[in-house]
Amino acid sequence: MNALPSVKLIDGKATAARVLAEVREQVQELRHGGVQPGLAVVLVGADAASQVYVRNKVLRAEEVGIRSLEHRLPTDTTQAHLLTLIDRLNRDPEVNGILVQLPLPTHIDEHRVLQAISPLKDVDGFHSENVGGLAQGRDVLTPCTPSGCMRLLRDACGELRGKHAVVVGRSNIVGKPMAALLLQADCTVTVVHSRSRDLPALCRQADILVAAVGKPRLIGADWLKPGAVVIDVGINRVDDGGHSRLVGDVDFAAALPQVAGITPVPGGVGPMTIAYLMKNTLLALDLQQQAAHQERTACLSPC
Ligand code: NDP
Repeated sequence: MNALPSVKLIDGKATAARVLAEVREQVQELRHGGVQPGLAVVLVGADAASQVYVRNKVLRAEEVGIRSLEHRLPTDTTQAHLLTLIDRLNRDPEVNGILVQLPLPTHIDEHRVLQAISPLKDVDGFHSENVGGLAQGRDVLTPCTPSGCMRLLRDACGELRGKHAVVVGRSNIVGKPMAALLLQADCTVTVVHSRSRDLPALCRQADILVAAVGKPRLIGADWLKPGAVVIDVGINRVDDGGHSRLVGDVDFAAALPQVAGITPVPGGVGPMTIAYLMKNTLLALDLQQQAAHQERTACLSPC
């Protein structure tokens, strides 16, 4: 008889708490050496969801001892003004990470703004230099959500090599970097999207399924291979019998009996995204210190 692996809830909240404890410890060590990492968070406008995200990021930074510098700008801020602020933050030695909360008001060119952030301070990993570096498998700052998913997968699966991973969704923020990270971990990777044919059959091939679509409960139990590990990135607000609540892209209750592991929504990927923002701030500081060291040694070399 083919026994299924025991069902496991992949607890993002608990893992995020462990990641944050690691970060806190590293920050303490840095502070003993006289260095306090700094994270600048820039919010343009009054989007309610963005305000909540920014508040959570700032709170989390303070909890782990990272200095947070909040810049709240009005909706009618000009692109030129925002670029000037970013330039100032790029040159500020007390700022190690810069995050511009998206979406930006429509009169501002998002790409132009993200490209203005120094790649060494780009804690969201959205600058083309970091996107390219990830595609080439170099050690660069990578987007927080997929990085957090990788940690959950490594903890849940152990060895990832040779596993077939199917990523549903191809956004620049989640789907594409997720696929690149899985490829780096020696998975066989399939990326599917709204134009893919026979999604259920493609998903049923997955040892690892990552759903990043934004469609409530799109993926039912019959789309999943028994024993698969499922990472549900989706966050969708639905009306459930008069109560508003959050659900993922996967039908959690239906999937649970047949998977080896699955993240809940909420309490799965969400907390990992913020934890990896803190981790990226420390990585950014490290990359900046390495770059400064290389510059110093280049200046000292006789030629
Ligand atoms: P996007 O809207 O940018 O991308 C969605 C992707 O899903 C697109 O590639 C799209 O395909 C694909 N898609 C849409 N409909 C279907 C369908 N019916 N079948 C197959 N693929 C489909 O979203 P994001 O990547 O930014 O976010 C995805 C979800 O993850 C959202 O719910 C978001 O809220 C959540 N999220 C959660 C985070 C967290 O921290 N937990 C962080 C970031 C996002 P196509 O390209 O062809 O249009």
